[in-house]
Amino acid sequence: MRFAVISDIHSNLEALAAVLEDVDRQELDAVLCLGDVVGYGPDPVVCLEIVRTVSLFVLAGNHDYAAVGLTDIRDFNPAARAAVEWTRQQLDPRSRAYLTSLPLTRQDLGAFFVHGSPCDPAEWAYILTLGDARRALECFSESVCFIGHSHVPAVLEIDSSGEINVLDPQRVVFRRDSRYIVNVGSVGQPRDGNPDAAYGIWDIEENVFELRRVAYDVQTTQRKILQAGLPPVLAHRLTFGH
Ligand code: ZN
Repeated sequence: MRFAVISDIHSNLEALAAVLEDVDRQELDAVLCLGDVVGYGPDPVVCLEIVRTVSLFVLAGNHDYAAVGLTDIRDFNPAARAAVEWTRQQLDPRSRAYLTSLPLTRQDLGAFFVHGSPCDPAEWAYILTLGDARRALECFSESVCFIGHSHVPAVLEIDSSGEINVLDPQRVVFRRDSRYIVNVGSVGQPRDGNPDAAYGIWDIEENVFELRRVAYDVQTTQRKILQAGLPPVLAHRLTFGH
């Protein structure tokens, strides 16, 4: 089985559609979604409909819960907060009920899945430093934990000697005596300096992770963001992937 692991779609329909076309071309067996389907972008309801249809499971992200009042937005930046308010007005009862139902974590297929951190998932902590990674590795028992949230693809390995290694996420062969935290990056708002949509392919039999990048029609998304009256910075950043 080969899975597409997607995260942080952020209501970006053009990026989502391009990724799902790539998923088809790669003949992947199923899609697993780590959350933040909504927030920032102009197409929350249609992205939710698509993601819930194609995914084996969907987890909650901080923006998903924020859109239905399940998490505090006081520490969101002004553009993110404006997008939450706008998204709330777009949601219909079916979308609201769905977002409210999303779980924070999932243990499945021998791996652990969470939007932000396996430690206190509802706190939405980021795993940015090696210290964060070392703490996070104690909060799950599986050999691999898939995350999103920072919008920056990354693979961190703790090997049998206890060393933490930062690996190139492009392609990683999971070793049996190591454990991993894998950030699959963001479909709809990449922040690693590459504007192309990001997602991961996890080959469960071969124990291989590969990062995919997919170009999409950024200008259409930007035009929709501006037309919706969302903060212009949310459009501009998509040009640069930051
Ligand atoms: Zn996000």
